[in-house]
This record gives sequence, C-alpha cells and structure tokens, in this order.
Amino acid sequence: MVRPKKQRYVGKEPIIDYFKPRGIPIRDLEEINLTKEEYEALRLKEIENYSQVKCSELMNVSQPTYSRVLDSARKKITDAIVNGKALKIEGGVFKLVKRKFKCFDCKSEWMIAFGTGRPNSCPKCEGLDIQRVSLEKISV
Ligand SMILES: [Zn+2]
Repeated sequence: MVRPKKQRYVGKEPIIDYFKPRGIPIRDLEEINLTKEEYEALRLKEIENYSQVKCSELMNVSQPTYSRVLDSARKKITDAIVNGKALKIEGGVFKLVKRKFKCFDCKSEWMIAFGTGRPNSCPKCEGLDIQRVSLEKISV
C-alpha cells in the first residue's frame, strides 16, 4: 500500500521562473526543471535563514524529506551554473499558503508569503495595531 503523501506547503511563488545563459539560443540549451517545492526549500533556507527544523515545519514535511528536497534543489542550481544550462521553475504538487494581516487603524487587510517574518507595521498607514487574521490556503 502506498502511504498518502503529506500536502506540501509553499509560501511564495517565484517572480521570475526562467533563467538562461546569455547569448545561447534556448534550442541549444539543456533545460533543468526546478519544482516550486525545491524553490521554496531554497528560499526558506538561504533567503529567510530558517533552521532545517523550521523549514520542514513551514513546508509541512518531515526533516529527512525537507533535506532531500533542499539537496535536490542545490544540485540542480549547481548543475545549471556549472554546466551552463537553462533553469525553469515549474510544477510540483503543493498548497500555496499565505498569511493575512489586518490593520486596526485604517482597516486595511493584506496578504504576505508564509515563512517570511511578521510585519512591524501596516504597509498603508504605518499603524502598529496589526494582527494576523487567518491562514489562507489556496490549492494549486
Ligand atoms: Zn493601516
């Protein structure tokens, strides 16, 4: 029997999802596919600087699984840089998770990526009376 796979969480989708070596036509390049889970594993570790324990919690996976995803992501990025391949960030099976905050001064609400730090003030009025209102999960 196959064990059901836990739903993986991704907090932020890439802004740019394609990278290629300069001056070489795409048709002549080998393409590497980095999944969005792999992208998220890298983002949480290398940009947000979370521990592996925290990263695995944020992605809703076990630590060994997180470690495998991160390792795979690093190998792919390295392969692309060292061997001059194109890198496409696409696919994966995950849930896009965002956090919603509300400002009690101006009543505005906004969403931020899961796994980023708590905002200090309202982006609209800079008020400090802000609170997290709910966890939004968007199925992908
Ligand atoms: Zn405000």
